[in-house]
Amino acid sequence: MNATRLESNLLNVTNKIANAAARSGRVASDVTLVAVTKRHPVEWIRQLTGLGVTNLGENYPQELWSKAEALADLPVRWHHIGHLQGNKAKRTLPIMKFIHGVDSLKLLLALDELACSLELTDPPAVCLQVNTSAEPSKHGWTPQGLLANGDAIADLKRLPVVGLMTMAPVNTEGDSARPYFAELRAVRDQLAAALGRPLPELSMGMSGDYEAAILEGATLVRVGSALFEGVGE
Ligand SMILES: *Cc1c(COP(=O)(O)O)cnc(C)c1O
Repeated sequence: MNATRLESNLLNVTNKIANAAARSGRVASDVTLVAVTKRHPVEWIRQLTGLGVTNLGENYPQELWSKAEALADLPVRWHHIGHLQGNKAKRTLPIMKFIHGVDSLKLLLALDELACSLELTDPPAVCLQVNTSAEPSKHGWTPQGLLANGDAIADLKRLPVVGLMTMAPVNTEGDSARPYFAELRAVRDQLAAALGRPLPELSMGMSGDYEAAILEGATLVRVGSALFEGVGE
């Protein structure tokens, strides 16, 4: 692996995060970098954690389970970032600090039940996924559907809902993604008002659009390829 490349990629990403945070009137530490490590080997992940990145995102439960085991000696905070199947949740939930992309009321209620039955004292924080681009192929609530579920969200027994998550459409890059991120922030503001409590987290922005997302208020950016490009060469 090319460790120098990994280090320079990381420096580039963290500089851009700091600049975008400053442009949005915030500081770099207001934005958490979640390094998306899916399909990358544990050796690369060890190197990355050695550079101080400890929030790691994975999509696939089996891969997550084996990596969490292989890296159990490290202070990793695991984030589940994709669609989580209910039948994989029992083994996944106790490992996670954060779940991005809970995409239906059915799954949310099932995870809440599971957190109760597993008696998790420190259950993962949850961001609810909103399909801000209204693409039929995408998971997530519609903005209206989410707001209609406010009472059920308020009645959860154990799972802390801390914010919302979205993905911009596949072919939008940079500033063209900003309307989708602005929409997520607006939906967050409405849901927070309905619940009567803040929802501080906005999980939005990937390699192609994390600066745009930060300008619209992202607090968590999920970045994979911008960190790992060229590392395998
Ligand atoms: C893979 C993935 C990412 C990271 O994508 P990059 O474009 O490689 O930064 C972020 N979020 C989700 C939900 C993903 O599946």
